[in-house]
Amino acid sequence: MSTINAPKDTPVWVNIARCKACDLCVSMCPAGVLAMVPAPNSVQGSMISVVNPESCIGCRDCELHCPDFAIYVAEKSEFKFAKLTEDAKVRAEAIRNNNFRKL
Ligand code: SF4
Ligand code: SF4
Repeated sequence: MSTINAPKDTPVWVNIARCKACDLCVSMCPAGVLAMVPAPNSVQGSMISVVNPESCIGCRDCELHCPDFAIYVAEKSEFKFAKLTEDAKVRAEAIRNNNFRKL
């Protein structure tokens, strides 16, 4: 359930104004879609980024676990999501091992 309008042809998006860069969604994503990127002007020094949108499987784990309701996933009826691949799983693990930062 989104509180902002869904961008067209986008599987997952973030309301940056709400995000506190807690990493939780990155840790939950099974497909390596999300990662933290440097953001020198932000209080936290990093910010969430949708780095591999084409790999999103629409599982909603990010949206369901975000404590700040800052990340949203498209409806399955409105976006054709990817299937979870071995490459995506390996990338997700690598991002986790990289302290949730973009590879
Ligand atoms: S879980 Fe929510 S608040 Fe935390 S980094 Fe992800 S979008 Fe931001
Ligand atoms: S919906 Fe699932 S695959 Fe897509 S970004 Fe969120 S956690 Fe990752």
